[in-house]
This record gives sequence, C-alpha cells and structure tokens, in this order.
Amino acid sequence: MKLSNIRVVLVQTTHPGNIGAAVRAMKNMGLEKLCLVEPRHFPHADATARASGADDLLAAAVVCETLEDALVGCVLAFGASARLRTITWPQVDPRQCASVISNLDDSAEVALVFGREHAGLTNEELEQCHYLVHIPANPEFSSLNLAAAVQVLAYEMRMACSGDGGSRGGDVTHTPLATADELAGFYRHLEQAMIDIGFLDPANPRQLMRRLRRLFNRSHLDRMELNILRGILSAAQKNNS
Ligand code: SAH
Repeated sequence: MKLSNIRVVLVQTTHPGNIGAAVRAMKNMGLEKLCLVEPRHFPHADATARASGADDLLAAAVVCETLEDALVGCVLAFGASARLRTITWPQVDPRQCASVISNLDDSAEVALVFGREHAGLTNEELEQCHYLVHIPANPEFSSLNLAAAVQVLAYEMRMACSGDGGSRGGDVTHTPLATADELAGFYRHLEQAMIDIGFLDPANPRQLMRRLRRLFNRSHLDRMELNILRGILSAAQKNNS
C-alpha cells in the first residue's frame, strides 16, 4: 500500500483552522489526498495559516457534496469515531487499521473518514465505512481535536506503510477489490431484489440491510465476486417476475 493512496475525508468541518491543521498533520506523515464533504468555510485564510507550508495539499483538496462521492474508488473506508456506538460495527484501533491497510495491494485506494467537531459522524455515514476506528483515550474525555485525531491515524499509516512501500500480507487478491461506489450499487440492488422476492418488507425493514452490509463489508469482496452476487440477484428477480 502506498501512503499516497490513503485519502483523508473530513465531513462538514466547521472550523477552517482544523482543515489547515489536518493537512499539516497529513503532510508531516506523507499523506497527500484530502477530500472535504460540505466544509462550512473553504477556502479560508485560517486554513492556509494553520497549514503552515502544507498549502499545496489544500490547493489540491477535492470538495464533495456527499460522503458517497468522497468514497468513489475506495476499496476500504474507516470511520473515525470518538464514541462507541449503539450500533455494533466492526471496530479497530489505529494500529489495527494501519495493519489492514498495509496489507492491501499498492493500487488500492482507501479512505479515513473524520466527523464534525460537535457531532462526529452519523450512523448512516458510519455505515458507509467498512470499519469504525477508535483511538483509545481517556474514557472520561475521549474526544480529540479533529486534527489531532488525523495526526494519530496518519502516524500509524506512516509506521505501517512507509519505507519499502509497505509489507504485503497474504490476503492480497489478484482481482481488484470492489470499490465503495460499486458496493453501494450492490447494496441498492440487494435491497430491491429482496423486496421483489418478498423477503424484505419495505414497511418493516428492521435491521436487515445494516446486518447484511456488515456481513459483506467484512468479507472484502473483489469485483468478480461482486459481479457473481449481482448476477444471482438479477436471476432471482427475473424468475420472480
Ligand atoms: N463530539 C463529537 C466528537 C467530534 S471530534 C462526538 O461526540 O462524536 C471530531 C472528529 O475527530 C470525530 O468525528 C472523529 O472523526 C475524530 N476523533 C476525535 N476523537 C477520536 C477518537 N478518540 N477516536 C477516533 N476518532 C476521533
């Protein structure tokens, strides 16, 4: 895995100073790509001031309208959360997150997603991520400043992935992994197919989609596997019509 393929996504950041401090933390550790989802103020003088020399990353930052847009092309996304959630989602610490990432192919793109200063990430946003990453901190004071959280994650990425380009683990697949947008398309297809065959009642969906997303996210589907699953869904829909 290459550090340059790790994308930092900041969702609805309120203070532009935090955006600047985040790119400084990124550049210190060799990360390059920043995506901003609906930043409140950007570009902004406070962001440039706090970037202190990392303003090339600010200039290259991509501004997106939705998290789904920011995740296009990524095979894995990690949602950073200060809180442990009521929904159970696969959870890792920053070192485990870096280890998973360092085992991916050099061409794989991944995202580290950070939430709003006051409210973090919503459950819906977290569900678009494969894993929740939590920095173990004082349980009575566990919320780090946004840029400080970026720093901790970026440092672990550097420790795990720099040097010879990162160690390659055993689970490298030869078919490229399915990207977040391909998975989103698959989940829409799965939901529709389950409705069509009468398995999912849209009036009473319960936790079904959330549980299935968790199952499929855990298995790191490659593109071929995703196509097989979509083929099965289409066949089931056809037979049912
Ligand atoms: N008050 C918010 C915290 C926001 S801090 C809440 O309760 O969720 C801003 C962002 O920094 C968070 O959304 C998260 O992405 C990151 N962050 C802060 N502390 C963190 C921690 N201990 N572990 C992981 N991410 C953290």
